[in-house]
Amino acid sequence: MLAVLHRKSVRNKPVGILGGTFDPIHHGHLRLAQEALEQCDLAEVRFIPGGTPPHRDAPCAAASHRLNMVRLALQGNASFVLDEREIHRVDPCYTVDTLRSLRVELGAQRPLCLLMGGDAFLSLHTWHDWNNLFELAHIVVVQRPGLPLGNAITTADSALRQQYTARLAPVPRVLHESPGGAVVVLDMPLLEISATDIRRRCAEKKNIRYLLPDAVANYIQSHTLYT
Ligand code: ATP
Repeated sequence: MLAVLHRKSVRNKPVGILGGTFDPIHHGHLRLAQEALEQCDLAEVRFIPGGTPPHRDAPCAAASHRLNMVRLALQGNASFVLDEREIHRVDPCYTVDTLRSLRVELGAQRPLCLLMGGDAFLSLHTWHDWNNLFELAHIVVVQRPGLPLGNAITTADSALRQQYTARLAPVPRVLHESPGGAVVVLDMPLLEISATDIRRRCAEKKNIRYLLPDAVANYIQSHTLYT
């Protein structure tokens, strides 16, 4: 009886979604997901590596390598799930379309939480069909090193600032009460790690251990990525 109740409550908890190029995945991404999982009491976090990113330069590593690295990084954490729905697509893949396909899969009532760093949130107004993101999911923003969101939002795009002000919720519990529409800001221990920095260290033949899981560091080395 208790087991049935537990399964039912997990089925109703919000699902976290972390999209990224993961070129490569690192401890900043994993810590963000873990903080969101715990602070927001999520059922799971889905990692969705992107195929062709509409907003930025093409990734350095091939899709198959990025996928393998995410798979290695998630090993051993049953709450972290690899979702391949974007990576095999050849056309530009918009987050709003990914959320629509998740809605079809998970149903209209299931709370969805799109997780992102503060830097990503501050450029949200440049994303395709961005106003509709709020109809489809909550947005959970984790503050990144050197970029406290409360300060940065004051000089952000005015439409974005309006959405932020109107939707900001004081506590993560709100994420459980509706399928989407709120913005929640989380604090997390700051990890000053970026994929750009890791790629640069690889190119300079510097050691990248402890910035990302050992299995991913070994994969990068054995496939001579980012050199
Ligand atoms: P790059 O350096 O190539 O731009 P990145 O390290 O920022 O890559 P992405 O794959 O672009 O990684 O990021 C995916 C998501 O993870 C984004 O929402 C980003 O804000 C967030 N993120 C990346 N690094 C960190 C970090 N160190 N702490 C918190 N969030 C992070």
